[in-house]
Amino acid sequence: TLIVYNQFRKKLVTTSNQPNSYGAMSRTELEALEITLVQKYDEIAAAKLALDLTRGKPSSEQLNLSNEIDGILKGQYILQDGTDVRNYGGLLGIPEARALGASILETNADEILVGGNASLTLMHQYLAFMQPLWKQECPEGVKFICPVPGYDRHFTLCEHFNIEMIPVSFDGQDPDLDQIERLVQQDPSIKGIWCVPKYSNPTGKTYSDTAVKRFSMLPKISGDNFRIMWDNAYAVHHLSDAPDQLANLMALARHHDTNDSMVLFGSTSKVTFAGAGISFLGTSQEKLGEFEQHLSETMIGFDKVNQLRHVLFLKDMSGIARHMARHAALLKPRFALTEKILSKYLDGKRIGEWSRPNGGYFVSFDAIPGQAKEIITLAANVGVRLTPAGATFPYGIDPQDRNIRLAPTFPALDSLQQALEVFVVCVQLASVRHYLKS
Ligand code: PLP
Repeated sequence: TLIVYNQFRKKLVTTSNQPNSYGAMSRTELEALEITLVQKYDEIAAAKLALDLTRGKPSSEQLNLSNEIDGILKGQYILQDGTDVRNYGGLLGIPEARALGASILETNADEILVGGNASLTLMHQYLAFMQPLWKQECPEGVKFICPVPGYDRHFTLCEHFNIEMIPVSFDGQDPDLDQIERLVQQDPSIKGIWCVPKYSNPTGKTYSDTAVKRFSMLPKISGDNFRIMWDNAYAVHHLSDAPDQLANLMALARHHDTNDSMVLFGSTSKVTFAGAGISFLGTSQEKLGEFEQHLSETMIGFDKVNQLRHVLFLKDMSGIARHMARHAALLKPRFALTEKILSKYLDGKRIGEWSRPNGGYFVSFDAIPGQAKEIITLAANVGVRLTPAGATFPYGIDPQDRNIRLAPTFPALDSLQQALEVFVVCVQLASVRHYLKS
């Protein structure tokens, strides 16, 4: 398999640098190119690869960075205030972990709840908490705005709660705020919006200061009980020495007296262990109290032992920064390789655009409209799995059928390289056929 693959790679390297944009090629040139690409594609098929670019997961080397967390307590279970973390209680979390969450999400510790290993669960629980009120206010149905492309699990949550989703595109770095403000003003049954404000999944975009300011004032023009679901999942996940800066939504909201409408989320899933971290929810103290009441029907407290482990391991923001720099050292080569291969084979051809993120977990690729499904199928048929087309849009429908989310963090570098080299052949083949048809 390796020999066949290496032969394929040699050919790819020598024949790929097509200087012309596909749109400018003659039919004869396109036909010749298609033949070459089909040959490459058949060679890849013969290599019987089994590669996966779908998983936005940390690699095992990244997980190893936090192994010290196991056993860090060394039998110490009692907090400064006398709390025994092994026992029941403390639904809002131990004070030390609330302070840690507050520094990650840039708010006050008394506005933070520390949850279990998934912020996604907190999002679900928060939506469940709001359901009766929203349904009472809008018996005809509740709506949410979803900036697109976005995180598929946000959309799944909306579907689960029967919340109608209204997609809104990005306008440069920011979701189109003119449109968002118009929609929210016109329709009081819009009860919320999903935001991944920093190193967005999948685009890597970070919202501008102006956008954050406008978000902080959005509840002033919305219907009652509007919520901004501010999922800051990648708050400390930088890939660059010049990280993106995100304005402080909660500070602005306090100033405008809209903090009851802000719900911040975050977790250590991609800081320590993706399956055994801690999560955070931040909102005004008053709303936090109401949410705590709601949660108390289902539990007495989250896992405080793990909260203490995290506090001892990460300590504070400088501890987190040092730790995240180690993650970045492992991630940077993967993102650099992704950029290298995409630009080497696709630059100048005008058959795709992609993000060059300063942080986060993904590279967002936009193909020629109408080609995403085809590219993903071509890749799947030769053993390279990509995130399904449409996954980054509500209801799984990308109206332009062009966005593909690439997840370079999990595979080893050599597998990543193989997968991306197959990906670029599939992009080229789908695109050349598109031009031959048009
Ligand atoms: N939010 C975003 C934007 C994500 O990309 C992810 C994971 O990929 C999550 C939330 C999941 O976070 P958690 O592990 O805390 O549930």
